[in-house]
Amino acid sequence: MSSTTLAYRLGEPDAECRYPVIIGEDMVIGFAFRWHRNWMVQDSTGEHTLGRPPKGEKGEDMAAANLVKQYAAGLITATRLVATSAEKEARAYGPAPLLHPRMPETPRNLAGARKAWAGLAEHLWTPLGGFPGADNPWLLACGMPECDWFGPRYWSHLRGRNGQPPSAHRHPGCIGEDKVRALIAAYQK
Ligand SMILES: [Zn+2]
Repeated sequence: MSSTTLAYRLGEPDAECRYPVIIGEDMVIGFAFRWHRNWMVQDSTGEHTLGRPPKGEKGEDMAAANLVKQYAAGLITATRLVATSAEKEARAYGPAPLLHPRMPETPRNLAGARKAWAGLAEHLWTPLGGFPGADNPWLLACGMPECDWFGPRYWSHLRGRNGQPPSAHRHPGCIGEDKVRALIAAYQK
């Protein structure tokens, strides 16, 4: 038996920025996600920390390959894919919580989360999940007019540096940097 022949694809990340690992048409064998320095998987047996990927390898691929191997060995089971869009999911369940469910509710985390939410509001981003820390992928929806992009972003990249606002290049396909600068007060100082 060879596990390398089992093809998989990654679905859209959910509101916690976890990627479903899909085999066949729509069978999910688990979720791959990054939590701060480590990549993790969640499968039918629970959560497992895999650590960092080897140099040159993507964390998603390392995590997905781990799930494929477990599945091929009969150690985990698959479920049918339900959510296909984190944005739809987030809208279906209401506004995102202040903190990511994995973040302990310490005064420091709560203060950091409030600051990040305020900063994102100023730059017209809508969080689709709770604050996961500054250096962790966070699922955000772009708030530019006529733009329906959403995807993972890092607060550490969006908060600007040395009193300067962040890059006006938000993501490929957005409305254009001049229009972005015109819409956000922080660029007009
Ligand atoms: Zn955009």
